[in-house]
Amino acid sequence: MKTHQPTRGRLAPSPTGAQHVGNARTYLIAWLSARSKGGRVLLRMEDIDSPRIKPGAAEQAVDDLRWLGLDWDEGPIVQTERLPLYEQALDTLQQQELVYPCTCTRADVERAASAPHQEHEGPVYPGTCAYRRAADADSLGDQAFAWRFRVPDEPITFHDAFRGPMTLNPRDLSGDFVVWKSAGTPAYQLAVVVDDALLGITEVVRGDDLIPSTPRQLLLYRALGYAPPTFAHVPMVVGPDGRRLAKRHGDTRLASLRAAGVKPETLVGLFAWSCGWLERVEPITTQELLPRFRLDTIPPRPFVLETDLLRKIGYR
Ligand code: GLU
Ligand code: ZN
Repeated sequence: MKTHQPTRGRLAPSPTGAQHVGNARTYLIAWLSARSKGGRVLLRMEDIDSPRIKPGAAEQAVDDLRWLGLDWDEGPIVQTERLPLYEQALDTLQQQELVYPCTCTRADVERAASAPHQEHEGPVYPGTCAYRRAADADSLGDQAFAWRFRVPDEPITFHDAFRGPMTLNPRDLSGDFVVWKSAGTPAYQLAVVVDDALLGITEVVRGDDLIPSTPRQLLLYRALGYAPPTFAHVPMVVGPDGRRLAKRHGDTRLASLRAAGVKPETLVGLFAWSCGWLERVEPITTQELLPRFRLDTIPPRPFVLETDLLRKIGYR
């Protein structure tokens, strides 16, 4: 049993491009989940993935979220301003010999891995450098290396507030995973755990594309001595072809909908209908939705953004 603590949720956009209809539905659900419990909301810019960060995208994300009708009590909290915190966490992992320096290139890992792998996840790391100790980093000279977390061969169980009980073995999903990149920056898995823990986040509501990350993050919570938040992984928005919403499906950026004169309440109404909170697509504000919010009416399937739906809300 968890002791009762005030809810703290978060919106965590990556400023790697414009926010679009796909991200927006997830942010709306995350916001409603926290606010409907009287909780606080934090906005965090996940900008450590520097090569992919687009200038101006953080400001754009703030505008997009505000336009939609979301607000927050704290933030934007900016990851690139928090590097010492991630360094401390890495140090803790090093002390415990839970990480080791890995000199493999991407191509090395691809070659050595036998198992087929998913598009986004990359191959399962075969453990080539697992014989090393943390202190071996000192003798690597000029060689570039990443830090990998040693995963135990053990299924990780958690209760997903949307999907119910989940059991996943990170050994099969990723193997030993990178917590610090050879470029000298923290990997998403480490930064997100350090941030959610230190910022006192009690619930994480995010897209179900991140489910394979959750067992890895739970291992980091354990290793760093933090209590994990609750997780709810909600279905993604996909195009008519069933693939994750992307450029090939046309321009679904919030900024473009806005420029075309679509009202935020209209888009929110479309989402509310898609989540089972409204019987038909009709305008509603985020505030008006608060008493209607519930996770268990959201269909477990991805939400297919059919072209006629965009027409229905006056876009295209
Ligand atoms: N920044 C991530 C994204 O935009 C979200 C990470 C998370 O919610 O844990 O997909
Ligand atoms: Zn290696």
